[in-house]
Amino acid sequence: MSKPLAQTFASGDVAAQSCDTPVWRQPGRLEALGSAFFTYLPPTPLAQPHWIATSAGTAQWMQLSDAWLAGDEALQVLAGNAVAAGSRPLASVYSGHQFGVWAGQLGDGRAILLGETASGIEVQLKGAGRTPYSRMGDGRAVLRSSIREFLCSEAMHALGIPSTRALALIGSPQPVQRETMETAAVVTRVAASFIRFGHFEHFAARDMQAELKALADMVIDEHYPECRSAETLAGNAYANFLQAVSERTARLLAQWQAVGFCHGVMNTDNMSILGLTIDYGPFQFLDAFDPGHICNHSDSQGRYAFNRQPQIAYWNLFCLGQALLPLIADEELTLAALESYKQVFPAAYAAQMLRKLGLPEDAPDGTSGTPPTEGRFALLVNPLLQLLADNRVDYTIFFTRLTEAVQQMQDGGQPDFEPNFEPLRDIILDRAGFDAWALIYSEHLAYTSPALAADLMQKSNPRFVLRNHLGEAVIRAAQADDFAPVQQMLAVLQTPFDAHPAHAAWAGFPPDWASTIEISCSS
Ligand code: AMP
Ligand code: MG
Repeated sequence: MSKPLAQTFASGDVAAQSCDTPVWRQPGRLEALGSAFFTYLPPTPLAQPHWIATSAGTAQWMQLSDAWLAGDEALQVLAGNAVAAGSRPLASVYSGHQFGVWAGQLGDGRAILLGETASGIEVQLKGAGRTPYSRMGDGRAVLRSSIREFLCSEAMHALGIPSTRALALIGSPQPVQRETMETAAVVTRVAASFIRFGHFEHFAARDMQAELKALADMVIDEHYPECRSAETLAGNAYANFLQAVSERTARLLAQWQAVGFCHGVMNTDNMSILGLTIDYGPFQFLDAFDPGHICNHSDSQGRYAFNRQPQIAYWNLFCLGQALLPLIADEELTLAALESYKQVFPAAYAAQMLRKLGLPEDAPDGTSGTPPTEGRFALLVNPLLQLLADNRVDYTIFFTRLTEAVQQMQDGGQPDFEPNFEPLRDIILDRAGFDAWALIYSEHLAYTSPALAADLMQKSNPRFVLRNHLGEAVIRAAQADDFAPVQQMLAVLQTPFDAHPAHAAWAGFPPDWASTIEISCSS
């Protein structure tokens, strides 16, 4: 395939004003790599598409006008029923390790890339029909899983956790066969890049060195340009790239663990090269804290259990390292690049957890007698997590109640800074255990100012996370053609640290039936 001849828009060419229709960069970055990377094909039309929800925040990021997003052209383009001028839809090929086993060739089996906007944002339709990489699948996504992906992408972004984002959710009466007959939906998802670890594994496994190098060079130049001039790791750009990906992945995992997010399918084809959360399937935010929780009903071995995620990410990075080895051309440098994960993950996780407790990570040690981070983690975080696990305490509610306790102290302006822990004692069976922990916690809290602690906690402890039962309630309404709850929940999840009194129930304890929800890979 020869490269299409067309104008290339530099990011700066487009003023930061909204566009009435997407302006596509031609060719897109993936397209420019050549035909070994993808297959051109249009989306498969969707019967009688209708809007379910859109995200104004994503539209703004993409510089799309509200008017365009509200119009019929957008509905047709984002349903896959019309191809916008300048867009050349395609599906990309990748491979990967699934559940620890080499799965060979995979690819965009139900996602179609419409193109890349002038400012470098890739736009995909997920559930837009079969592609050459669909294998046995039908290329569709059902309403239920599309609502979950749409809401969670935006929820993660609002939590400050890197993620692919969602622009629109479109429904259709078109039937889709799963365990029962369901209906189809299409999510428009967007990201600076949809490249996965599996893209690199694909070309490495086939010994396609030129393509592997072209892919790495493109990703480095576009997303990791600092790796070109880095003097670390013998100045090897590919080793520095692997190290940068390892560090981003480490920080992402620290955020997942701190917020209680379980991804569920951490196969290497579901790992973003930009360190984004990608491919929302059977994910779950923990209700009661259970370190070994398995959210994916198909994961009988618990490979992707909550507390195994950091280790699995490291395993996945090894697969990426293996794929990049021909480019790095030095085994020691490759291992050294991966080694950074082991420092960055624990440090980032400790910092996240201490912030949830209102304890600033970088308070100048010695000036106020602040104990070092490592010591505080061992003293405060480990015993707390043990206590939460032993007592099956609701993870999110524990931290919001703790935040409230510290905030009330600040509001009350009491100089002794003794929080009222009663609302927390109420939710922990082992009160003596909690009191012992709270005593040590109060001592540590006294090193910092109440205002600073309250502020940190307010920003680190969301009241609203997309728990399974909340998603389920919205899904049931949507299945009965009531789409208002999707948009209402989106609004709440977009500001998850706020109170939202009208939706206080969504910040409450899950009902008993929440633990009976079973979600697996097929959706
Ligand atoms: P996942 O682990 O869910 O991200 O999916 C693994 C692979 O299966 C990817 O290559 C997907 O594109 C593909 N896939 C999943 N569901 C379908 C479907 N309904 N139709 C076609 N391909 C699918
Ligand atoms: Mg996937």
